[in-house]
Amino acid sequence: MRLLLVEDDPHLGNGIEVGLRQAGFAIDWAHDGRSAQLALQTTAYELVVLDLGLPRVDGIEVLRQLRARGSDVPVLILTARDTIPDRVDGLEAGADDYLVKPFDLTELIARVRALLRRAHGRSVDAIRYRDLVLQPQSLTVTRGSETIALSGRECAVLVELLDHRGTALSRTRLEESLYGWNEEIESNAIEVHVHNLRRKLGSELIRTIRGVGYLIPRDEP
Ligand code: CA
Repeated sequence: MRLLLVEDDPHLGNGIEVGLRQAGFAIDWAHDGRSAQLALQTTAYELVVLDLGLPRVDGIEVLRQLRARGSDVPVLILTARDTIPDRVDGLEAGADDYLVKPFDLTELIARVRALLRRAHGRSVDAIRYRDLVLQPQSLTVTRGSETIALSGRECAVLVELLDHRGTALSRTRLEESLYGWNEEIESNAIEVHVHNLRRKLGSELIRTIRGVGYLIPRDEP
């Protein structure tokens, strides 16, 4: 899942970027409001973490313009200003949740996951498919009494395919959801992750659609 982080403070931004990456997300980090607007116009994100006090274009303005264009991408705002008018401004401009600085990284990750669950209509942080239960939080899949550990990237590929089950996703599409800006991508990275998932979960789960990409079929009713 690809997220946009908008934060001008280099230390805080770096901490958030590293933390979210370790949690299995692909992160693009925009350092000012104008870069955020450009990124939002050119890339489809699953969620935006948006600081309000930003150079060039204010966070509230970024959010207002995003909603004015009809985007319903979940937005979590970060504010240093713990005053009721600021929070109300953010929520009225279309934010889905907010955190007041300073905050704990684990709380940020928990809230990001909660917003993503809500956006995908899931009430619990587990994805069920046939006899498999995927727990992205612990990077595990359970099948009956068996627990299978996944790497962060393997888990991200599986979540992406399960969230779009019935649709073939191209290698490029999967790469975009897995890797943020400035991340080296090995040319066969996706093939390797799919190979490992098949080895761990069985060769039937992920189908190769020749010339298109990879697919997990919809569950039969
Ligand atoms: Ca700031």
